[in-house]
Amino acid sequence: MEDLKFELILGDITSLTVDAIVNAANSSLMGGGGVDGAIHRAAGPALLEECRLIAERRRRNPGGACPPGDAIITGAGRLSCRKVIHTVGPVWRGGGFGEAEILTSCYRKSLLLAAGSGLRSIAFPNISTGVYGYPKAAAAKIAVASVKNTLLQTPLITRVIFVCFDRENYEFYRELISGL
Ligand code: ADP
Repeated sequence: MEDLKFELILGDITSLTVDAIVNAANSSLMGGGGVDGAIHRAAGPALLEECRLIAERRRRNPGGACPPGDAIITGAGRLSCRKVIHTVGPVWRGGGFGEAEILTSCYRKSLLLAAGSGLRSIAFPNISTGVYGYPKAAAAKIAVASVKNTLLQTPLITRVIFVCFDRENYEFYRELISGL
């Protein structure tokens, strides 16, 4: 853990050169708006095709091809990262529907997948804080806590970047990370 560096960026996750970027996907894996749309636009059609094949294989999965809290890994098409990890956050429904546990699981499973693939650097967007409506301060706390806990089991991963797209999220993360 001593070598670990949490980094914080205000910007576009698709521009990063890291081992893996994480996509806030939806359960169909077939693309959407927000960061999902931006990643598919930048990666090109090969990424969507790979997602389609995975979705096809998992079409009988309860909860969709990738249920909330779960994660899958693909190539990265034209992006300059090596892999894309697609995870599905919870839709915010007031907090009484397991949203916190599901969001915790998104960060945890993404890191475990990255570690299992021998990856060392990973960038996360602020999962669920867009269209899915998770309150930003609460989501940031969960993200940092889940990553910190999971990294105890993934010594290979030495670089974690939280990528914020808006200043409000950025300020929440800045405060949390400076307190570590
Ligand atoms: P969700 O459905 O999980 O809420 P969204 O894509 O709507 O997913 O939003 C998740 C977060 O990703 C939001 O904070 C949004 O501002 C942010 N976001 C949107 N586009 C990008 C991008 N290109 N790079 C990084 N973050 C982005």
